[in-house]
Amino acid sequence: MKIIQLFLLSFISIVTLSCSAQKKKSENKTVYQSETLVITQVSSNVYQHTSFLQTESFGNVLCNGMIVHNNNETVVFDTPVNDEISEELIQWIQNSLKSKINAVVPTHFHDDCLGGLNAFHKHHIPSIANSKTIEIAKEKKLPIPLKSFDTQEKIAVGNLFAELYFFGEGHTKDNIVAYYPNEKVLFGGCLIKELNAGKGNLTDANESAWAETATKLKSTVTNAEIDSRTRFNRKQRFN
Ligand SMILES: [Zn+2]
Repeated sequence: MKIIQLFLLSFISIVTLSCSAQKKKSENKTVYQSETLVITQVSSNVYQHTSFLQTESFGNVLCNGMIVHNNNETVVFDTPVNDEISEELIQWIQNSLKSKINAVVPTHFHDDCLGGLNAFHKHHIPSIANSKTIEIAKEKKLPIPLKSFDTQEKIAVGNLFAELYFFGEGHTKDNIVAYYPNEKVLFGGCLIKELNAGKGNLTDANESAWAETATKLKSTVTNAEIDSRTRFNRKQRFN
């Protein structure tokens, strides 16, 4: 396990260092807050959405996702934890960003990634996920993402693109990451943990593959400067 932590820590150290050098670029301010949903600006056109999941093992935990916005179009990465809060997020994007939602991307099959998927489908918003996520969602009778990819995909946001990657197993066997090169923001999902964080929910994890997966990420996404989740030190999040 120590090896895994070292890989993760060295990756995050690089991100954190680069991040402090880029502080002027980061906004990091709360732009929306209700009892159920918080939205924070991470960089010029990237936001973090946070909702809360009540769990037996970990209590009330924070669940974070990412929103990328460009030219009145957005892509949402991970849904809030249920349909009702996802509806609240959709309304905020439509009313405050005045933006069309091009797609929603659950980064693995847990509730904090696709628990609100049906709310997006109700608005006819396309969803895309790793083919393994779709397989598991079918098996477990969860909301099923509509479109699949295997290892790599690009999603249009206005005239720019967000990139999706599956590097291998770790937190789960289907976990993917997203990268928005225009603002050098990585959404590591549950695969990448912050410094000194616990490993979180290991129920579905592959601990022996995790280090290699993180290494592949590190060697592919070499210029990330901000991790849209870990920079906020959300230690309580388990999924
Ligand atoms: Zn998870």
